[in-house]
Amino acid sequence: MKTLLLITAAALAAPTQAATLESAIRADMPQLMALYRDLHASPELSMQEVRTPAKLAPDMRKLGFQVTEHVGKTGMVAVMKNGPGPVLMIRADMDALPIKEQTGLPFASKMMGKLPDGTPTPVMHACGHDTHVTSYLATARRLVAMKDQWSGTLVMNLQSGEETGEGARAMLADGLYTRFPKPNYVFAFHDAAILPAGVIGLTPGYTTASVDNVDISVRGVGGHGAVPQATKDPIVLASRIVVALQTLVSREKNPLDPAVVTVGSFQAGTKHNVIPDEAKLQLTVRTYKPEVRKLLLDGIARIARGEAIAAGVPDDRMPVVTIREEQHTPATFNTEQLANRTLALFKEHFGAERTTILPPAMVGEDVGRYWLDDPSVQGTLFWVGGTPKAKWDAANGDTTKLPSLHSPFWAPDAEAVITTATEAMTLAALDVLKKS
Ligand SMILES: [Zn+2]
Ligand SMILES: [Zn+2]
Repeated sequence: MKTLLLITAAALAAPTQAATLESAIRADMPQLMALYRDLHASPELSMQEVRTPAKLAPDMRKLGFQVTEHVGKTGMVAVMKNGPGPVLMIRADMDALPIKEQTGLPFASKMMGKLPDGTPTPVMHACGHDTHVTSYLATARRLVAMKDQWSGTLVMNLQSGEETGEGARAMLADGLYTRFPKPNYVFAFHDAAILPAGVIGLTPGYTTASVDNVDISVRGVGGHGAVPQATKDPIVLASRIVVALQTLVSREKNPLDPAVVTVGSFQAGTKHNVIPDEAKLQLTVRTYKPEVRKLLLDGIARIARGEAIAAGVPDDRMPVVTIREEQHTPATFNTEQLANRTLALFKEHFGAERTTILPPAMVGEDVGRYWLDDPSVQGTLFWVGGTPKAKWDAANGDTTKLPSLHSPFWAPDAEAVITTATEAMTLAALDVLKKS
């Protein structure tokens, strides 16, 4: 009888706490949506985020966080110590993209920015990082309001420059783990175009890919278009290289290891009747395993050189292959213990219909750097669906018919993303910081 009473009490307590959290988030939404629309209308490019942290810092200070700005150039770190226990870092990225917004939203961005080389460009929150920033504040508010229910240290990381793969690296290099408490756990979320609004996706193990940018300068010997015998045509050679590169993925690596080699840019020549002396290729190379990354990068250099030799290019005009190490993003591996524990928590709270295991994606995310090669830190990145329900249903869930992340038409159901993400993040935080 006594046992039965205890079970009944527990069963009653759980939904009450969940309902309280949900209604507290709902009550906060009018203010949060105003912040979201403001952030959406005034996006900033990677490593140039100035207004965004300045908007958040006063609120975080008011909540009682110790706030440090300009970490790794433009990142912001807010710390709250709340008794003994583990350190949890919650990370939200805040940068936007050089894209001209075409959503037609009343608060669409009309902002212009400058690329690192000074070229003017329109700027848009086309990856939804404005939902991440809004949830950052919303989650901080909830965890402060529920301070009596957890014990430990909370580090809220508003990260710069995710899109260029620079931010996490810059913040770590600027003492993220030495000037501030080093986390035992890291959580981050990303809005998702491949899920309907309000549905959570999580992938234990590899979740996002390793990304490399590679430049190839294919050099030839230029001359008159009517006298090819006196030239070494770099356009024909670069074309052969592009075709030969396709065999790296199809013929040289294990078919069970995911990989992509895409030539995204091919630039050469100025005029119909001139054979230029150079063609330029830009590649994106994506993998999960470090050994597959090495196989592909070595293969690209070998194929470029091999094709140049076959074309009779002089030794001093061999192709120059540059791997842009400063732009490298490592693969993100959701540590299995934390990922499975969080997945079970979400399933229990949101139900199986709102929680799904997603297959890994070939997109990049630099959040994995925070726990890469460091077994003392466990980390998990989860996804929160943003495609408006009506659009999802109209497309029958066929995501090829819907705008993706980085599309000028990406207009998520921000309210659903922010409420779901805040609820999920708060629950995940309470779970790892629960009082023992
Ligand atoms: Zn992005
Ligand atoms: Zn993103």
